[in-house]
Amino acid sequence: MERYLHLNSWLKKKFGQRVLKICVDGGFSCPNRDGKCGVGGCIFCGESGSGTLKRQLSITEQIQNHLKSYRGERAEKFIVYFQNFTNTYDSLENLKRKYDEALFCSDKIVGLSVATRPDCINEEIVGLLKSYSDRFFVQVELGLQTANDETGELINRGYSTCTFEKAVRLMSENNLDVVAHIMVGLPNETMEDLKQTVEFLNSQKIAGLKIHSTYVTCGTRLCQMFEQGEYVPLQLEEYLDAVVYVLTHINSQVVIHRLSGDAPKEQLVAPIWNAHKKLVLNGVDRILREQNLVQGQFYEKKE
Ligand code: SF4
Repeated sequence: MERYLHLNSWLKKKFGQRVLKICVDGGFSCPNRDGKCGVGGCIFCGESGSGTLKRQLSITEQIQNHLKSYRGERAEKFIVYFQNFTNTYDSLENLKRKYDEALFCSDKIVGLSVATRPDCINEEIVGLLKSYSDRFFVQVELGLQTANDETGELINRGYSTCTFEKAVRLMSENNLDVVAHIMVGLPNETMEDLKQTVEFLNSQKIAGLKIHSTYVTCGTRLCQMFEQGEYVPLQLEEYLDAVVYVLTHINSQVVIHRLSGDAPKEQLVAPIWNAHKKLVLNGVDRILREQNLVQGQFYEKKE
């Protein structure tokens, strides 16, 4: 029995077959790093944003390499996922060129998933993304991290929760799927903050959710805080309880894209359990099973 709505099952049902995501580095930057809205980036963000930089390869080359490596995985359909940095932060012309290259380089590509910040969404970009939606599945992953604006400032997020709300509204009015990205275990955050973040999410028109553990990688501001004793990462059991809280309180229609962060192993400083994804997945499954819990069990509708 599936106790939460897992992305893979949802995709299989939607497409009638197994569909995998291909991570692509589109060569984007981030306004929170290049000075447009901030410098230094979010305090947990490493040099490659999230994911591995592959800038020496074209988008087509990256996709072709993935398609080769996925032979034998029994998947024939793929969604291109622009992961690193802010994947709507460019001129409309460049965005179209990059998205077109990704979507039309193989007939195995059935969708586009774009990770971005809410302050890098506007009507023109939404119009461009929407223009693909008659032929492709289109999804926008939007960083929230927390609904608490004080934590937002502490982590140097560079936008308010209100900006997130406006971006979600614009995209949902245009029938684009929004996947919210939250982080558990941010500095100074308590369980009460997490509860408020979940309550906020339940008031938003989101189709999916990524739950990300806060981890420390070398060279980040969070790493300095950790080394100076100003930040203490969550213990595994604390993290598992927090994830179970989110799952059991989020709307059961929301597709769950992930339950942990995937720190680059060579850069991970703490917590060490973060290097073992299975510890999280199995731990969450165990708690849900033992306590007979399912997604949305304690969900309360908010408008
Ligand atoms: S918005 Fe994303 S890419 Fe930009 S600094 Fe924050 S985490 Fe890094």
